[in-house]
Amino acid sequence: MTLPANVSQPRLQVAQIVPATEAEGPGRRFALWFQGCPLRCPGCCNPEMLPFVGGAELSLDDIVSQMRNAKDRHALEGITLLGGEPFAHAAHAAALAEAAHGLELSVLVFTGYRLEELRQSSDKNVNLLLERTDILVDGPYHRDEPETRRRWIGSANQRGHFLSERCDPNDSRWLMPNTLEIRLAEGLLTINGFPAKQAAGLWKRL
Ligand code: SF4
Repeated sequence: MTLPANVSQPRLQVAQIVPATEAEGPGRRFALWFQGCPLRCPGCCNPEMLPFVGGAELSLDDIVSQMRNAKDRHALEGITLLGGEPFAHAAHAAALAEAAHGLELSVLVFTGYRLEELRQSSDKNVNLLLERTDILVDGPYHRDEPETRRRWIGSANQRGHFLSERCDPNDSRWLMPNTLEIRLAEGLLTINGFPAKQAAGLWKRL
């Protein structure tokens, strides 16, 4: 795995990891939520993940090892990076994406930025992460426009971009009902995904 030259400390600020989920993209996926987002969408789904302090500081090697173990145990299709804002952690997210491709896993990224903004960025790590992203779901979360048709997408303004041949833009799984997963492990309750039908104010990605 190659880290960009300016990444001297390969430690990631991580809000949450779910080793195998079916609620964050097609198939079974390793999902990682970054801690920290510079955007402020009204009604943000994950306000506790906005500060750049908090969560846990994990080494890249540790996360890649978790990813490899999860792939072996759960027959993963890919990884999903979300948050927080993955493009605010672009160098580390790009390194994770490279590791995922090395394990033959696809890479899905949820971002509050629009693809056009990202493509104009002069940050080489942003470009690198884009190059290594197979599916990008872009755009800020709009709480008044809850998505009711496309699975895994929070608001109707957000778009899915199939950026590589690893993923099929006609994949019918994107039109299945949404889903929510609840886990209780070691005394900790975690929830991720979206319920199929709910009031707009309750839409929450955890
Ligand atoms: S991009 Fe995501 S995490 Fe950031 S403010 Fe918007 S909804 Fe919240």
